[in-house]
Amino acid sequence: MSGLFYNLGRRLGRAAVPAIRRTKWAWQSATGDEDQVLKAEASFGSALATELRASTPPSPNPEYRRQSTEIAQNIERAVRDKRRSLRAEVVRMDAVNAMALPGGFVFLSEPLVAFCGAQSDELAFVIGHEMAHIMRRHAWDRMVNQAATRVVSLVALRTGPLGQWLRHTGIGLLQSAHSQEAEVEADLLGVRLAHAAGYYPGGAITLLRRLEQLEPPQLTALGKYFASHPPAADRLARLLPLCQKLQGG
Ligand SMILES: [Zn+2]
Repeated sequence: MSGLFYNLGRRLGRAAVPAIRRTKWAWQSATGDEDQVLKAEASFGSALATELRASTPPSPNPEYRRQSTEIAQNIERAVRDKRRSLRAEVVRMDAVNAMALPGGFVFLSEPLVAFCGAQSDELAFVIGHEMAHIMRRHAWDRMVNQAATRVVSLVALRTGPLGQWLRHTGIGLLQSAHSQEAEVEADLLGVRLAHAAGYYPGGAITLLRRLEQLEPPQLTALGKYFASHPPAADRLARLLPLCQKLQGG
């Protein structure tokens, strides 16, 4: 289990559960009013983000922080739907890792930012990809569906059962691998977001080409983040036509 999720799972319950209980109506209806669902997502994600910040220190590297904050702001400016505020924060962690929380919070580990390099184009693709998972509600929908079928009766109860469900199941849904289809969608939207925010869309290609050239032991040493995604060659094959089109236009 990644350190980020391990810390989050251990602590979870203090801030998140009361915040989530307030949003139970959204859990009960996956077809709820769009504004209400967005509000539920934001308060759920911000409760988790608060707990994550309390357990995982921020990166002391001002350049990493500046780079990721700036990319998130540029993507936020470029997105037509202004109802989510998008943020990217860098935390201290040994492995290459990223985590997307509902509502618009992306957390990146220092080695991931370092791997993407000082030019922001590759990092913009990574952040765009994670933002795309949030915008398309890939993890949120899984959580809402499970909660609706399994814990609706518990939601109204005291902190205990809901906290337990979140620790044992809910957080697991946030970290479990996305479907192939969701990853393809996040890659394509991620490139479009990075491009709309003013970055070179080919950043995705240079990053994936570097990954493709790594030997399996080197890839394993980086951590589970890239290994939990489809192989770099498959991602490249799907992204090349889009990147060429965007660069040509
Ligand atoms: Zn992904």
